[in-house]
Amino acid sequence: MASLVKEDHFEESHKYMGFALHQAKLALEALEVPAGCVITEDGKVIASGRNRRNETRNATRHAEMEAIDELVGPWRKDGLSPSQVAERFSKCVLYVTCEPCIICASALSFLGIKEVYYGCANDKFGGCGSVLSLHLVSSDISEKTQRGKGYKCRGGIMADEAVSLFKCFYEQGNPNAPKPHRPVVQR
Ligand SMILES: [Zn+2]
Repeated sequence: MASLVKEDHFEESHKYMGFALHQAKLALEALEVPAGCVITEDGKVIASGRNRRNETRNATRHAEMEAIDELVGPWRKDGLSPSQVAERFSKCVLYVTCEPCIICASALSFLGIKEVYYGCANDKFGGCGSVLSLHLVSSDISEKTQRGKGYKCRGGIMADEAVSLFKCFYEQGNPNAPKPHRPVVQR
């Protein structure tokens, strides 16, 4: 069976990763760890998110969770059943600047997202290959029940840009200190 691989996907993934990087920059400006993402459906951005851990004082408010909530809330309000929500997610693609952590990677598998593209690897907590490979699920039915349905995943999309934002963040020193993120230099 021949499968047509869309080679223009390179351009497309860079376009959406650019939007995700924009979200990460907004996080950086808000003194948050700069990670950002967008979710697309049929080539249209339908949600975006950025890390808001400090703002919300909640360590799980990762960019992915913010974007997921932006969708699930209204879908449920519209009366979509869990299976209809799953149906919508199965058409969605996530672009995120840093490899999803174990929690987010596993949530994405349960939600049944179609594909995930990420920028740089997350060596400490990455759930899409770095620490665990939660996007991979065997065809074993019981494993699917335990781990969700898995998804296609590809990393290294505009990774340098994502890394340079992290560098900016860590070069600021203590991000929670009450000071502007770009110190005023007086000479
Ligand atoms: Zn996460």
